[in-house]
Amino acid sequence: MLPRIAVMGRPNVGKSTLFNRLAGRRIAIVDDTPGVTRDRKETVARIAGRDVLLIDTAGLEEAAPDTIPGRMRASSEAALKAADLVLFVVDVRAGLTPADRSFAQWLRRHGKPVLLLANKAEGREGAARALEAYELGLGSPLLVSAEHGDGMGELHDEIREALPPEPPEEDEEDEADENRPLRLAIVGRPNAGKSTLLNALLGEERMITGPEPGLTRDSVAVQWNDETGKPVRLVDTAGLRRRARITQALEQMSTAATIAALKECEVAVLVIDAVQGMDEQDLRIARLAEREGRGVVIAFNKWDAVEERNAARRRLEDVLTASLAQLKGVFIVPLSAATGRGVENLMPAVREAYALWNRRIPTGALNRWFEHALERHAPPLVNGKRLKLRYATMPKARPPTLVVFGTRAEQMPEDYRRYLTNSFRDAFDMPGVPIRLNTRGTE
Ligand code: GDP
Ligand code: GDP
Repeated sequence: MLPRIAVMGRPNVGKSTLFNRLAGRRIAIVDDTPGVTRDRKETVARIAGRDVLLIDTAGLEEAAPDTIPGRMRASSEAALKAADLVLFVVDVRAGLTPADRSFAQWLRRHGKPVLLLANKAEGREGAARALEAYELGLGSPLLVSAEHGDGMGELHDEIREALPPEPPEEDEEDEADENRPLRLAIVGRPNAGKSTLLNALLGEERMITGPEPGLTRDSVAVQWNDETGKPVRLVDTAGLRRRARITQALEQMSTAATIAALKECEVAVLVIDAVQGMDEQDLRIARLAEREGRGVVIAFNKWDAVEERNAARRRLEDVLTASLAQLKGVFIVPLSAATGRGVENLMPAVREAYALWNRRIPTGALNRWFEHALERHAPPLVNGKRLKLRYATMPKARPPTLVVFGTRAEQMPEDYRRYLTNSFRDAFDMPGVPIRLNTRGTE
């Protein structure tokens, strides 16, 4: 799970500006008018060397004239609950307002880690006014200017300190735990049929765990048991909400949300509209999944509406071969989410992809493969000198990761690298599994 950082505070203190500054891009809409309702924005940002999910709550905090305060509070509450760290922003130019004080009190009550940011503190008088912020009882304020970028280095440092420690690499025990739910993401371009597929998988009566708040955009975990009784958890950092809204969340999946979901999942189901065929956008998503090293299964959806089935399938395979070498042999499950036909084949494929993705190769077999591979195709010359590859290890799975040692190994040309990964994938029958190959030079 990515650590979640929520930017909070009353309207107009500069939350969206700070969000954009931290995200390194302009994403949220910055608007001068207080009370303009905006959507919650989230993005994966790299802060202090770590990927985090940054959440801008601008829009949540604002009470439209007809909004009952309780409902507004519910949505802020949900945002707060999902956060690992809150950046609480006040505006030193405007000075503290009663809204800031009650916000601060509310934060103190919840006991979440909070960094107090005195924003708009550029210039000298800004710093002087920031003293007032001590009164909030949330520790020393950090003087920043979201607009001018002042104080960002310090802010990064403080965030690093305040975040929960990075989880250690998963150990073997964890991997072997049968009861741990498989983390699944359903990704694909709009209209590919993701929500229809999710509904088909869940069935009507299946349970969705999580709160059912009215207005909130809280993250709701969707978990169910597949046909073998094993638990599956859907990850979707776009913020799964009440059942009726899940559809919407999947439909509107942005690139950032897709990346976040891919980072959190173990296997990604890439839904492709078989009537339209695989297009650039599908390829882009598939490449993201490959880059994140996830197990992949293709749900070739709307099969009911495809007339030339053989041709459609061949076209898909051609595109995959030409453009996605790492996903060679990936499981393709033709199905119709709408009618339910073929849906029963999806989870078995997911389980199999998961098993391959987890697979460890015993050292003996790995060595035999490595020797054969080198015999079949000797390593090339690099700058007139032969690469001397000595041995390979597989320090981890999830995804399968090889380290090849040898003299000048780190200079291994791309095509030889590809040869080795393909050979490994074929030898151990791991179709569709992205394989990492690292090299280590030795003397
Ligand atoms: P939000 O409602 O809390 O998301 O606030 P916005 O990010 O929309 O900012 C409100 C206003 O404050 C905008 O006009 C921003 O340009 C301005 N603002 C944001 N950060 C700073 C800052 O560091 N210094 C100054 N002077 N203005 C800022
Ligand atoms: P999403 O945007 O990926 O969540 O896609 P939806 O699940 O909302 O589906 C988009 C459209 O495709 C809707 O009109 C669905 O009815 C239709 N659709 C989804 N699955 C199928 C299918 O298996 N066959 C056919 N013919 N249409 C489907």
